[in-house]
Amino acid sequence: MVNFKRLLRYLLPHWPLVIVVLLAMVFSSILEMGPAVLVRQILDIALPQMNLPLLTRLSLAFVGVALVKGIAVYVQWYTSELIGQKVIYKIRQDIHRHLQTLPPSYFSTMGTGQIMSRLTSDVDSVQQFVGWGALFLANMVIMIIVIGGYLSYLNWRLMLITSVTLPFLLRTVFWFDRSVRPAWKDVREKMGKLTESLQENITGIRVVKAFARENLEIVKFAEKNREHYEANMKRAGIESRAQPFLEFLSALSAVLVVGYGGYLVLTGQMTVGTLFAFYSILWSLIWPVRMLGWLVNMAEQALAAAPRLFELLDTEPAIKDAPNALDIDEVEGHIVFENVSFSFPGDSREALKGINLEIMPGEKVAIVGGTGSGKSTLVNLIPRFLDPTEGRITLDGHDIKEISLKSLRRHIGLVLQENFLFSATVRENIALGKPDATMDEIIHVAKLAQADAFISEFPKGYDTPLGERGIGLSGGQKQRVALARALLMNPKILILDEATSSVDTETEYLIQEALNEVMKGRTSIIIAKRLSTIRGADKIVILNKGEISQVGTHEELLSQPGFYKKLFESQFAEEDVEMALELELGNGTPKQNDGGCNAAFSTSQ
Ligand code: ADP
Repeated sequence: MVNFKRLLRYLLPHWPLVIVVLLAMVFSSILEMGPAVLVRQILDIALPQMNLPLLTRLSLAFVGVALVKGIAVYVQWYTSELIGQKVIYKIRQDIHRHLQTLPPSYFSTMGTGQIMSRLTSDVDSVQQFVGWGALFLANMVIMIIVIGGYLSYLNWRLMLITSVTLPFLLRTVFWFDRSVRPAWKDVREKMGKLTESLQENITGIRVVKAFARENLEIVKFAEKNREHYEANMKRAGIESRAQPFLEFLSALSAVLVVGYGGYLVLTGQMTVGTLFAFYSILWSLIWPVRMLGWLVNMAEQALAAAPRLFELLDTEPAIKDAPNALDIDEVEGHIVFENVSFSFPGDSREALKGINLEIMPGEKVAIVGGTGSGKSTLVNLIPRFLDPTEGRITLDGHDIKEISLKSLRRHIGLVLQENFLFSATVRENIALGKPDATMDEIIHVAKLAQADAFISEFPKGYDTPLGERGIGLSGGQKQRVALARALLMNPKILILDEATSSVDTETEYLIQEALNEVMKGRTSIIIAKRLSTIRGADKIVILNKGEISQVGTHEELLSQPGFYKKLFESQFAEEDVEMALELELGNGTPKQNDGGCNAAFSTSQ
């Protein structure tokens, strides 16, 4: 009931339109009976009296009724649709806007599929009902009241007898709709599988041919096709079986009208015209009753989907601005982790344990550790994508929880390993955080990020579209566009996740050059995998299973026993830092050498 009220609340702002629709509904329900009433007059008055002028007038009135009813129906349908679309627009907008406030962790725990399904199929169920079903339901109820009222007025005893079948009619439709819905769902699922099989067959056609699998593919497709056929026949069976019942019950009402009504006429208690009017109007009553069963099921579906939508809308962003959040304009870039621990929700293990770390303004810090040691978690705490479970992080002496998210993030440039580029031009992708940036500014940062050269070679330069419909960029190119994007904001703090995979030697060198240039004057925190970056850092932080095991400069760390010294003395140092890290610190098997580190290592020697 709470959900129902909340759904209907979406209709509330449109109350003037709702009133228009309801009035149009009442009006068209009344006019629905117009022809029968006119025929009644013709049969009972005009014909017995041989009154030709009256007959002409009544016949003309038919046209008038049809015209006015047409207008009422137009207003009713158009306005219902208008309200429906407005409501749906608002629901989608609310959900989408709310999604923007939720932290990245929400999306990773919920999964894209779940969220998409809420935004599409759940919104669909709700929209069907709120946008259309609710008004239609109102229309049916109005029709039943108006028509039933008029029929009772014509002859209440006849009305009472004929309505005996109505509850059965309602029940049958209700039951029928219940059983046909899963059948339809099955048909849709089978169709999905059929399409999937066809799509795989087409995209994998080379493999199919190379392995001479054509016959097997034909058999596989035939099987899916048969399943779809069977699901459809099952649905058709249910649908067909319901029809005789519905027809029978409807006919039973008609028989009762004709039988008992005929008796009333014979005994002089009712005129022929009234019987005719009763009979024809009855069909206008049976229709809404049949629709009612269907609409009730629709409402149920909407009510099942509504809690899922509301749950999403009610998810409070775990990370949000404090009531009097500070807006910081200027930042030095002095970051301190004070006893910071972090556990992912629902996970008893600590991804980070008692982290104490001071990063001075302008310092270059390399975070080094094996897979799963907590490097990403550590850097995600700085822009508050995650909040520490214990301890605090300060920026220039302010607890970052007291700084407004917007101003905190404005000072942080983020370049991740996987950088997402939107389906937009290169220029738009770089200007993501500053849409009004001038072309000079964009070219300047692209040059800093070593991206200008390859962008200029594109046929349309900075106006080249990227993404699905545009040019595909290599991993290294993407990273440099992302770097330019981060630099455009002129952030005082740079967070970089060094990618070594899918980058060739030359690109590796170019990225390294770009980074050296852009890190000047900024506090930089790098998840470092290249030996050159590690060696060149002002501070190296070694993370092991969520804890800092060593901190210091390259020289300091080399002069003390520990992992770092071991790493450099080991045979791996010459070959692949990442592999060495995996073996020494990581929990899993070492990654394959991708050749990336060697290149950077040698170029910086
Ligand atoms: P790294 O970046 O060093 O590879 P992460 O910071 O990604 O390590 O992960 C640290 C630990 O936290 C790992 O044990 C990982 O399994 C766990 N972890 C990472 N992300 C999540 C998450 N969204 N939910 C639960 N555990 C996570």
